[in-house]
Parts: sequence; structure tokens; C-alpha cells
Amino acid sequence: MTEIRFFALGGLGENGKNMYVVEVDRQLFILDAGIKYPSSELFGVDEIIPDYRVLIRAKDRIQGIFLSHGHEDHIGALPHILKDLNVPVYATNFTMQIVKDTLLDAGYELENLTLNTINQNSIIKFNSVRVTFFNTTHSIPESVGIAIHTVKGLIVYTSDFTFDQSSDRKYQTDFQKINQLAEKHVLALLSESLGSTLVLNGGVNQELTHRLNSVYAHAKGAESSCRSSFPSGKDPAYRRYLAQKSTAKKKIATSVVGPRSASSISPLAKAI
Ligand SMILES: [Zn+2]
Repeated sequence: MTEIRFFALGGLGENGKNMYVVEVDRQLFILDAGIKYPSSELFGVDEIIPDYRVLIRAKDRIQGIFLSHGHEDHIGALPHILKDLNVPVYATNFTMQIVKDTLLDAGYELENLTLNTINQNSIIKFNSVRVTFFNTTHSIPESVGIAIHTVKGLIVYTSDFTFDQSSDRKYQTDFQKINQLAEKHVLALLSESLGSTLVLNGGVNQELTHRLNSVYAHAKGAESSCRSSFPSGKDPAYRRYLAQKSTAKKKIATSVVGPRSASSISPLAKAI
């Protein structure tokens, strides 16, 4: 008799600190590990992390931390959590590059960690459980939804996403895969509710990109301007991303992943 439980360590009723746990026959699958930024009255607090202490005594039952995408509210707590829970981490290549950069900044030796790069076709098996992935559209490349297949049915986690098939291939939702999952027995859909009460259409990312590019293109000194926060100019995923972005006549990158240090931005300025 399969027993399935779900609980959240953050991310419900708040914006950020996303961290969810699905338990299947005592095996723990962690979905995201994000931070939340403090409100203005929390002076001196840089970031708020989920209270993961409950997981420490269950450490041996944790199968892995599965990351949906590279935003800080989904990956930012990893440098804290991995100190106590050195468990395998699964993420797409782009997300993993950001994770690695963040962990190096925090003083980790990457070879001491188990960092597994996946793509939307990966199937990871844990006894009777399988974990699969599907591409979703978001404001950052290689964002994925995560499906946990049990003998009783599926638990599907989407994280935050939009629908925008006009976007670059790296941002497109895989509707075929979603349809295939829907034909199976979905026990629960764990989806983001942020912005769901908006009455108006939220618009598409392309529009924003176009507007930002236009501002940079017409700004004084635009030839050398760079506003970006990608992990490393040497990363192939990042380079591919830059190549797509550099179709504009002027060499401008306008995407923002999250707040990064000036030292991590400077190699990028050289790269483009
Ligand atoms: Zn996000």
C-alpha cells in the first residue's frame, strides 16, 4: 500500500521561499529551495530561508532536491541547506550553472556535492517512483515542471510559469508532454498562484524585451552598456543565450536573473 504525503516548508501564502516536500513510501522528494527577500521593516536581514530543520533527522530518506528554474526564490536557499543536507541536486543545465556559481560564491567545493544536470527528457528512477520533467515558459531559460510518478498516480509541480508560445524555443511550454501527463492519473497539481488574481492579461515577455532593448539602444553609451547577472561568460548555455540575444545591432543584454555581485557581472561585459 503506497503512502503519499505532501507538505510545504515555504511558498504558501507568501511570495518566495518556495520549498515543497513530496513523501512517497517514506522517500522524500524536495521541490525547489528558495529564499524570500525581507520586507522593509526587517533591517539587517538579507534573505529569509525555509525552516528545513525537520528534514535534518530525515536526511537519509531524502532522494534529492529537484529545481524548477534558476530564480532566487527557487534556488537561493541551497547554499544554506546543503551545509546540513548534502543530498543530490537535480536541475537543467542553465539552472545548474547559476546554482554552481552561487555555491562557489558561498565557498563550496563543487566536487563534494552531487549536482545532476537533467533535461526535459530525463527519467530518474527511485524504487517504484519515477521523476520526469517538462518544459515550461518563464522569464528565465530552461524552466521545467516536475512530475513524480507513483504506483497510485502522479503529482505534478509546475512552479511559476506563463503561456507564451511566441517566445524563444528555450522558453516554450511543452504542451504535448503536459497532455501525456494529463492522460495519466494525476493525483495533485501543485501550481503557482502568484498573479492569478490579475484580471488583465499580463502581456508577453517579448514585449518587455523589445521595450528594454529599445531603451538601451537609444541610451547614451549603449555600445558598451551591459545589465546582466548571468553566472559565467564561459558557460555554453549562457553563450548560446547571448548569441540569441545579440541579434540586435548593438551588443546589448537586458535579461536579469537575480541580484549578483559586480565581480560576476564584469566577465560578462567582456564576453559580449
Ligand atoms: Zn520564477
